[in-house]
Amino acid sequence: MSEDNLLDLALVRLDEAARHLAIDPDVIEKLKYPRETTKARLMIRMDDGSRKSFIAWRCRYDDTRGPTKGGIRYHPDASEEEAEALAFWMTFKCAVMNLPYGGGKGAVRVDPRSLSRSELERLSRAYIQAFARILGPDRDIPAPDVYTNSMIMGWMADEYAQIVGQAAPAVITGKPLALGGSVGRDDATARGGYYLTCHLAAEMGLGEQMRVAIQGFGNAGRHIARLLAADGHKIVAVSDSAGAVFAHDGLNVERLEAAKAAGRPVTSTVGLDGHQECPADELIATACDLLVPAALENMIHERNVSKVQARVVLELANGPVTPEADRILERNGVIVLPDILANAGGVTVSYFEWVQNRQGYYWELAEVHSRLRTIMEREGREIWRTAQEKKVPMRTAAYVHALRRLAAAIEAHGTQNFFSAE
Ligand code: GLU
Repeated sequence: MSEDNLLDLALVRLDEAARHLAIDPDVIEKLKYPRETTKARLMIRMDDGSRKSFIAWRCRYDDTRGPTKGGIRYHPDASEEEAEALAFWMTFKCAVMNLPYGGGKGAVRVDPRSLSRSELERLSRAYIQAFARILGPDRDIPAPDVYTNSMIMGWMADEYAQIVGQAAPAVITGKPLALGGSVGRDDATARGGYYLTCHLAAEMGLGEQMRVAIQGFGNAGRHIARLLAADGHKIVAVSDSAGAVFAHDGLNVERLEAAKAAGRPVTSTVGLDGHQECPADELIATACDLLVPAALENMIHERNVSKVQARVVLELANGPVTPEADRILERNGVIVLPDILANAGGVTVSYFEWVQNRQGYYWELAEVHSRLRTIMEREGREIWRTAQEKKVPMRTAAYVHALRRLAAAIEAHGTQNFFSAE
């Protein structure tokens, strides 16, 4: 197994979970491969009149429990294999939360920062033109992911509506409020992780005033910093793709948010409010209670894992810890709240958005928050219990929890579904 084959790494977790359940081997066989991955080359007109092409994918990993669901990522390192691994994680994430969805994921290999706003819009519309035939509110429902946002989802929803000739807001979630988005979707990923951490804090040995280090200051990282700081916890270190900042007595989170809102890196705050620069790869070594990886995959691996000093790791990113690193964290007594549970608040509020779109009836923010909290606490508690009973890490317990639901659905479908044609 090559170390950077992401889908192979993801499948290690499936094998581990399967060992703890009496499960039909057919179930594992079905979950080991993506159902379909579609690839397209998107050709767009650049502002200077030239044409440029970008490679793009949409993977529908498994749809046994419902339409496939998952974000679209814009990243220069995006690949087919990464989209498939992320779609695999979505399959398990939706099952963990008992959402009526399967798993999917999309990607475009592009550095979105190199495009103008109108080029970005043309690229996003081209994505929908290429994949519209496999999307749909009952088929495959995209959402934001790394370097995509509500503005992009708005363009995509508009393009889809034009293609099908009618309003179809439920085809995409994470839309702007004006186009049928849900209140509370913007900070849902972080808020879900926050509810989960607070709910299990006592059992995990976390105290009143935690020291927190956050890797990544995008949608997830920014919001978790704000939520935890508001409760009096100290955010001692934060990084983004340009570098990291540290302050022993706690960073000024408002200052960091203002810098990001103005398009500046977190390191632009160095020298203000006691903020000091620190090497980005030292962030995970920060002396803290809670470490929050909120950036990309495989950031904590065999070679740097021994530096982790935190008691708890809250995975707001997808796949930030490799299986090797997992084993070392377990040996060192570090609790990992795994991605398929910890960052599932995002897709859960996406589900609420889809429900609201289909009902044509929109909820208040308090309702979104209370429903999210109920689900996070219920599934989190159940997984905690499984981990205690089976004496396994939270990740294995989360996979066991999801696998039970997936196996029940696969078995209930009967054998025909294994070979269903498009
Ligand atoms: N991209 C997010 C994730 O990885 C959200 C997916 C969604 O809302 O469908 O969970």
